[in-house]
Amino acid sequence: MSECQRCGACCAAYRVQFSVYELDDAGGTVPVALTEPVNGATCRMRGTGEVPIRCVALTGVVGQSVGCSIYLQRAAPCRELTEGSYACDKARARHGLPALGDDLPL
Ligand code: SF4
Ligand code: SF4
Repeated sequence: MSECQRCGACCAAYRVQFSVYELDDAGGTVPVALTEPVNGATCRMRGTGEVPIRCVALTGVVGQSVGCSIYLQRAAPCRELTEGSYACDKARARHGLPALGDDLPL
């Protein structure tokens, strides 16, 4: 099991924003019903624009066992945030989880 399947911190830490061209109604993959508009060019995953942040597609309990209900359809920022990166460790720290990367302590 990868650490991401236990974690989910990054899905409950950041505004997840991306181009409207990634939406399924524009020829992309992300289900439009799970998003909200930011402006004409940008949208975001519902649940990531308010505090406490938690993407509507995230299932399970952060730090224990999680899943993404649209994993194969997820947007670019979701695919680009990698385990052990600075953004990963920062999100984990917000949820009281230890760093995975080898960067300096936050
Ligand atoms: S914060 Fe890091 S370990 Fe946790 S789900 Fe995101 S990429 Fe995976
Ligand atoms: S769409 Fe999936 S990978 Fe992206 S933030 Fe939401 S739960 Fe996480």
